This record gives sequence, structure tokens and C-alpha cells, in this order.
Amino acid sequence: MPSTPTHCPYCALQCGMYLTQGAEGLQVEARQFPTNKGGLCRKGWTSAELLTHSDRLTCPLIRRTRQEHLQPVTWTEALEFFTERLQQVQSQHGKAAAGVFGGGGLTNESAYLLGKFARVALSTPNIDYNGRYCMSSAAAAANMAFGLDRGLPFPLSDIAEADTVLLAGGNLAETMPPIMQYFDGLKKNGGQLIVCDPRRTLTAVAADLHLQPVPGTDMALAYGMLHIAQQEGLLDRAFIQARTEGFESLRGQIASFWPERVERITGVPAEQLHMATIMLGMARKAIILTARGVEQQSKGVDNALSFINLALALGHAGRAGSGWGCITGQGNGQGGREHGQKADQLPGYRSINNPQHRKEVATVWGVDPDSLPGAGCSAQEMLESLGDPDGVKALLVIGSNPVVSAARAGLAESNMHKLELLAVADFFLSDTAKLADIVFPVAQWAEMDGTVTNLEGRVIRRCRAVAPPAGVPTDTALIAALAERMGCRAQFPSDPHIVFQELSRASAGGLADYAGITWERIEKEDGVFWPCPTSESPGTPRLFLDGFAHPGGRAKFHAVRYRNADEEPCQEYPLYLTTGRVMAQYQSGVQTGRVKALKNLAPEVFVELHPHLASQLGVADKERVCVRTRRGAVEAVAHVTGSIRADTIFMPFHFGGSSRANLLTNSALDPISKMPEFKICAACIEKMDRTSSKQAISE
Ligand code: SF4
Repeated sequence: MPSTPTHCPYCALQCGMYLTQGAEGLQVEARQFPTNKGGLCRKGWTSAELLTHSDRLTCPLIRRTRQEHLQPVTWTEALEFFTERLQQVQSQHGKAAAGVFGGGGLTNESAYLLGKFARVALSTPNIDYNGRYCMSSAAAAANMAFGLDRGLPFPLSDIAEADTVLLAGGNLAETMPPIMQYFDGLKKNGGQLIVCDPRRTLTAVAADLHLQPVPGTDMALAYGMLHIAQQEGLLDRAFIQARTEGFESLRGQIASFWPERVERITGVPAEQLHMATIMLGMARKAIILTARGVEQQSKGVDNALSFINLALALGHAGRAGSGWGCITGQGNGQGGREHGQKADQLPGYRSINNPQHRKEVATVWGVDPDSLPGAGCSAQEMLESLGDPDGVKALLVIGSNPVVSAARAGLAESNMHKLELLAVADFFLSDTAKLADIVFPVAQWAEMDGTVTNLEGRVIRRCRAVAPPAGVPTDTALIAALAERMGCRAQFPSDPHIVFQELSRASAGGLADYAGITWERIEKEDGVFWPCPTSESPGTPRLFLDGFAHPGGRAKFHAVRYRNADEEPCQEYPLYLTTGRVMAQYQSGVQTGRVKALKNLAPEVFVELHPHLASQLGVADKERVCVRTRRGAVEAVAHVTGSIRADTIFMPFHFGGSSRANLLTNSALDPISKMPEFKICAACIEKMDRTSSKQAISE
């Protein structure tokens, strides 16, 4: 049987796999690829099951009134319905009344074409995507400090070669298990791992040192380490002098975070802080990694900048084997923002506010630069203003399930009801699709060709292994059909190979330059790292070795100021609620929730709480409890565990309906990245006998 080499549909590690047609459908086999070295997690192993799942959507569905149920219709009817409703909304309320909400799992080709569709076919500034919830804080921080954002500015293999790695706010042993091979390599080579996390996760258990701070105190911890590094003479003065600017502005901040004060703020003992600083500061090669725990906060950008400050001050940046990087979550969270799904960006990481950048992209698209709209609002802002007089009134959602994944999801859901048109493209009827006026079925990952850009900035090939069900288009074919129906005169190719060639041209000369990348090269070379401006360029596995991307080549320190979370615990809500992922589920659970083996492992929403807290509340392990915040209440199974701080509770966000953890989360935004504060809000736990009935959303 011929096997198709491709990659897993889920997270940003993008493990290599083969898909082989067998008697019982497509079989998954692990493939040797630099990111996974032959490993796959359970999600990858079971991913092909969904291709033939009985819940697959295979024809368009519409409802003409909200009282009706969704009914199957022909494609002609569906396209007519969509076009008429959308044009009606735009002629009545203006072009910006149309919005597009994309996804970090879309291929580069789909993301690129969706950005072009919004700006050219719909002429609306309002496009953003769920990658806003994933990478935006780290991306903004990297742009501010280095002049360029690429999740990891070095290949994963550098992790194994480092002397010390600090991972802040990530649980990689559960979220992307095959990556742990690099951390195992680190330890085998005599290196050391420090993990900073309010929970003693599987990753923290594997660490040489686990710092367990109070949620939201990461910036104080980073400043505390900088204070100790200065005291111990560990700052790399020559590097600071030669390759950075702005260090002097940090003096006041560094001085005010002495170890005992940091211990009081973070709960991390001063001696542990000291030990961690020595481990990092004495290292010849060291890597600092941040992830969602640090970044999904209303001060996520400043948190990331504080760890970048630490890396720069110790000379651990812009050198082979050392650096700061961020672990991307979604499969194409990186490529999704490089090529036009983000509200303020055009392909190649060009800025939509820059006249020259607009001209360059408009030339490739064959349109007048002045016809391109400006920057739109961010994902959370768009959801919270749906139906408002100046808000979006017709929304197209593709590859995303914001009713489950948005912060303060109850508000997002009730706002969806205010829309004059909600269109959703998906392969299953997600919680968001259930609310739609029209649902377009689309192909799954193994049914279409394309590329994605993984957490290292390595552009890789997804290969079609099987045809989609009859009548089900690929994303690019759907977008092209919608553009044609809208009467758009610009070219919208549906063939992803042609789309990639156009994307490469549109990115040429931009920061994320793909001009020298071809599908053939990607396959021959195990992926190509951007920037890769010409066919002769080998690509760029390691950024910043010869200088940072700011004019003048220097990295910039930022004297960010410590501040509290938007919502701190109080008498009524005395606990920190933090949310995250578990090994057997992925994102909003639309896919992994339908895989029996994964469902059996993680069947329902739970809340982790410390035994001291459980005993105070009189809650037993496995008892059903009610978790409550200012925004709502959710019933969950108590998991009593000593691995979490006694002042903190944890819930996974993979479950839909009334089990959504995001019914509870706070949508306070980071002022720069517009990232909601998923990771911290004030909460309480109530025993179910004190709660009259199962709680519904309260928005
Ligand atoms: Fe690899 Fe991530 Fe897929 Fe697991 S979910 S197999 S870690 S790409």
C-alpha cells in the first residue's frame, strides 16, 4: 500500500507521520522527522479516525429563521443564501459590518487566502483569528525586543545542547509529549531544566528545579532573578554593551525586586530563586522558553519582555545555542499570523498600516492599495462587539470554535445571537456551528494539500492522502467560491499549490520572506526555515546571530512595571482559577472529543484542588462541585492533588456546553497584544448540595 508522508493535524510540533490506506481506512504510522524523531502522542496516533467519523458534515446546512433547525441544502442554495445575506448586511451597515474569524490550525495557503478574502472580496478591516489567544503576547514582545517575531528563533535541537533551559508557564510533557526527547537529551548531556509553573505538572516533575509561583507573579520572579544576577556578577556586560540598548532604564526595577520581597510576592523561596539564577547565569549556553501560562495574562507582553530582559542581560540571546523563545500551541499558530489572518498584518509579516507594505501586497493582488482597509479589531474585541451599532453584524468563522475557546465565552455566545448572519465552515457541528445560520462543510487535514509553519519557523508540507467526501470542498476551494459569488474581480486560486506560489511572491521582501521556498524544496529538505528570500538561500534555522532585526542590529530592553492581575482573589472569590490543556484532548475538543480512546482518558471537565483546600471545603476526591466566578458557574469533578498550590485551582478548557471552563474566565485584555487573561481570575468552589441545581451560564 502506498504511504503518504505528512504531519499531525494538531499542535505546533507538527510531528511527522505516514498515512496508509488499509482495510479499515487510513492508518497512522510514526515517521522520523526532526521535530518528533519518530514519536507521536495519542492524539496523533488516533487522528485519522476522524476522517470517517459518522458526525462528519457532508453538505451545507442553513436555517432561514432562528426558530428553524439547520436543514441540508444544495451548494447553489447555500452560496446564494450566504451572498445575499452578506451583501444585505454590508449595504445596510457598511463594509466593516462583515467580519472573519479564522483559525491557527488552517494551512498557510488557507490563512493567506482568507486574509485576502477579507481585505479584497469583503473590503472589511475586521479579520482576526484564534491565534490571538495563543501567541499574540509573545509575538508582540519579540517584535519589541528583537524587531522580529518567530516562536523559536532556533531549532529544537538546540535545547538538547544547552547547559540550562528555563521553561516558564508550559506543560510540554502533556501538551506535546514527543518534544520531551529534546529535554531528555538535555539531561543526558549534563544540562539542567528549570520549570516555573503554579502546578507540579509532569513537566515540572521532570525538572531539576521546580519554581511554583503564585499565578500572575511571573514578572516579579524574572526581576528577582535579574536582581540576583546583578548581585552575583553574572550579567554579561560585554554583550549588553555591544548588542543591546536600554539596559540603564531597568536599574530602578532591578533594585526594587530583592529576593525576600520577590519571595513574598511569588511564594518562591529566595534560595530557589538564587539557585535558578546561578544555573542560568553560569551556563555557557542557556535557553529561556515561555508559554501560555506566562503569556495569557492582561500583562502577557510585559511578562514575556521580563524574561527576554533576563535572557539579554545574561547574554543568552543572539548566539548559537542560546536564546529566548516561545512555544507555539496551535498547529499553524505561527504561519497563521505571518500571512494575513491577524487584524493588523499583511502577508510576509507586513504591517497593514505601512503605506509601502500595502503597496507591495496590493501589487501582487492586482488591486489599488487605497482600496485595502486598515487594521481591524482583535478577536476578543470583535466577539464582544458583535451586533453593536458599530460592531460586526455578519460573521464568517472558519477553523475555529470561539463559543468554547474565547474568554468569557458566555458573552461571546449571547452576542452570536445578535448577528444578522453567522456562517461557520467546519467538518463537525461545533458549539459555534450549532448557532449558525449557515454551515459549510470543509475537508479535513489529510484530504487537502498545503503547508504549515511549525513552532521553530520551519515551513513543512501537509500532503493529501485521501479525497474528501463527495461534495466537500477544501478551505481554499470554499474561499475561492465565496469570492467568486461575491463578484470579486481579483484572482482567488483554489489550488493550494498556486496559492502558495502567490503567497511566496506576496511575502517577498517582508520579514517572513518565503520567496525562496517551494513545495519541492520543503519535501527534499525536511522543511525550510524562514526567512528564505531566494532559491539559493539555505533558509535561517537560527535568527539574530549577526544582529537583531531592529535598525542598527541591537536588541532592546524594556523597563516593564510589575502589576497585579486584573482580578485578584477576594473574600467572595478567594482562589486563583487557572486553565489549560490535558494530554488526551486538544483545544475546544471538537475533534479529540470524538475519538473514543481519548474521550475515555479525559471524559469530562474537572477541577484540580489541593488537599488542604479540599479539607477546608469538605470536598472529597471525585465529588462533583461547582466552580464559580463573577461571570458564571460550572459543575466539575474534583481532582484532589498535592501537585497544585493551595491557593489555586485548575480546569481544562476542552469541554463544550455547560462544561466550558471559559464560561468562567476573565476577558480583560493585554493593552498591547489584546490577549485575554485566560490564566488568572478569582474563583470559589461550592459543594453541590449548596448549589440548588446544575448551574447554567450567567451571561
Ligand atoms: Fe505531535 Fe502535537 Fe500531534 Fe501529539 S498533537 S502527535 S505532539 S503534533
